[in-house]
Parts: sequence; structure tokens; C-alpha cells
Amino acid sequence: MIPTPFYLIDEARLLQNMQKIARLRELSGAKALLALKCFATWGAFPTMQPYLDGSTSSSLFELRLGREKFGGETHAYSVAWSDTEIDEAISYADKIIFNSLSQLDRFADKAAHIDCGLRLNPRFSTSGFDLADPARPFSRLGEWDMTKLMAALPRISGVMIHYNCENRDFDLFDQQLTRIETEFRDFLRQLKWVSLGGGIHFTGEGYPLEALAARLRAFAERFGIQVYLEPGEASITGAASLEVSVLDIIDNGKQVAIVDSSIEAHMLDLLIYRETAKLPQTGDHAYQIAGKTCLAGDIFGDAKFPAPLAVGDRVSIADAAGYTMVKKNWFNGVNMPAIAIRRADGNGTIELIREFTYEDYRSSLS
Ligand SMILES: *Cc1c(COP(=O)(O)O)cnc(C)c1O
Repeated sequence: MIPTPFYLIDEARLLQNMQKIARLRELSGAKALLALKCFATWGAFPTMQPYLDGSTSSSLFELRLGREKFGGETHAYSVAWSDTEIDEAISYADKIIFNSLSQLDRFADKAAHIDCGLRLNPRFSTSGFDLADPARPFSRLGEWDMTKLMAALPRISGVMIHYNCENRDFDLFDQQLTRIETEFRDFLRQLKWVSLGGGIHFTGEGYPLEALAARLRAFAERFGIQVYLEPGEASITGAASLEVSVLDIIDNGKQVAIVDSSIEAHMLDLLIYRETAKLPQTGDHAYQIAGKTCLAGDIFGDAKFPAPLAVGDRVSIADAAGYTMVKKNWFNGVNMPAIAIRRADGNGTIELIREFTYEDYRSSLS
């Protein structure tokens, strides 16, 4: 048995998502690129590669990892490239998407031999959370001035529009795409490709995949463009858990089980968005599951079990693939969870693909 804590990627579940992506690509004609900022565990890339067209990035390192480890079509995006990064970035990229007209002005000549694009900000989004809302007031994420965008046309062949956030509502997606079609019609007609970014939850249970495919195909045909999608969360939703063990149980009016992990260090996104972890909820024995750092609010959430917990018991925290392994950190010097894959080979073979040690902690600082 692999010692806890470890992230456990379930290859069979991952493949279910991949098959939905492949079906959407086939029905819609859209291309799909894995957004590495959500999930960059490259040990799982061989499982994913056959179902995706490539990867997209938000920095030089993600871009390089995508080129080296994912392959296929590699899109480069960054909120701002530096002078020291740009040549290397262009050497890895099939397309480079500039966040602003000033970055395009600065670097378009260097990138003239590959496809260039701009980020278009439609000034609306589906994000209900200010922190992650690209359409928030004074947003720095993309351009919207039509006159300036039109003037940039000779230097770009496409745009990236990322405005969805875990959007499960196809009707809302449809309405917002219609709004984009209407507001940016004359501009879109002159492009070769449009990426609609990530945040469309089309691998979720019950999502009308066929309707989405038809809508994307209609969009592509109306404007004569190649559509791209950049699924992050949709690629890996439900495809991993965080396996932890109980280290101590404290009764402070509430039964608190302290586990060998930390929400702050290992599932930081939940803390930032003030969500609780997906914990077991069957049985009559209630516990608060808490992390082992000294942060008072290092709490995964409330759980229920069929029997009382004991020190050494294992707890599985669901939906731990997206924005977890890419965000884990060394807070409190708590060791990082290992990474393992349960193979879809019928035997449930669990393969340990990465372990972290004191040397990794030490070498992350100096
Ligand atoms: C974050 C992001 C994605 C992936 O978003 P998900 O919600 O994980 O699908 C894709 N494209 C861009 C530009 C992003 O910023």
C-alpha cells in the first residue's frame, strides 16, 4: 500500500472525460487543447494525448512543458511576456496569443513566422467570483476596443476569448456566444481561428454535448473560422482523489480528525474560493476533517462515516485533480502528497509516479 498522502489519478475516469472531449471534437469540428494551468501532471499526458489536439499555456514554463511532454499543437499565452522570454517562447509555440495591443506591437515582428493572436475581452463572463472574473472592472485580461482591434487585423489571424468559469448552463453559453457574434461580427469575419477558452463544463453529468457541438459548428461556419476550446477543469473533473490518513482525533465540542495533509498546501483553490472539500457523507459519525499545518482555518470540511474514525484510518477526498497539483506548496514544510495513477487495466494496478522528499523542499529554497 502506498503511504498517504497521495493524489490518486483514476485513469478510467480520466478516459471517460477524454472520450467526451473526442466526441465533441468530432461532432463540432472544434480543436481542444489542455489548459496546463489547471492540470500539468505530465505522467498522465500519455493517457490524454490521443484525445486532445495539444496544450495551451499561461507562462513560458507551461509552454515548454506542453511542447516537451504533451506535443501536438502548442499555444502560447501569457498576460505579459518579458524581453528575456519572448524568443524562447516563440521557439516552442505554434500560435502566440498576446494579451494586449502593446505586447503585440512590441513582439509581433519576432513572431511573424508563426500565427499571432490577441486576447479579446468581451466584457462579460460567467464567473460569479470577483477574483476569477476576467470581466471585472479595470480587467487587464485582453482588449475590447473595436477600432484598435480592427487596426491590429493585419498582424493577427485569430483571438482567444476566455470568459466562462465552470459554466454548466448550455443556454447561458449559447446566449453569450450569440452576444459575441453580434457585438464582434465584422471583426470575427476577418479571422481564421477563435479560441473560446476554458470553463465550459461539458464533461459534466447530463451536459447536452450534442447541442454544444452543433452550436460550435454553427459558430465556425458562420464566420469561416477554426474554433478552439481550452478545457482545463472539464478535462480532469472527477478524475482524481486526495488520499489521506487520520493522525489525531480531538473532541472540542466537535469531533475533529487531523489528517496528514493540508487544504492550504494541497488543495489551495478550495480555500481561496471558500469551498469545502468533497468528503464522505454516509453514516452517523460526524467529523470535521482538518489539515496538519498551524493555520487555524486549515479545514477541509465536515464529513460523515458509517463507523467512528480511528487514528490510521484513511479518508478519500474526491475531485482532487484540477488546480491542486499545480498549486501545491511547501507551507509549514509539510511534505507534498505523492502522485499515483490507478491504471484502467482491469486489475486496478496503482502506479506511483512521483514522490517528494526533504531534498525537494530544500531545493525549492536557498
Ligand atoms: C484558466 C484558463 C483556461 C482553463 O479554464 P478551466 O476553467 O479550467 O477550463 C483556459 N484558457 C484560459 C485562457 C484560461 O485562463
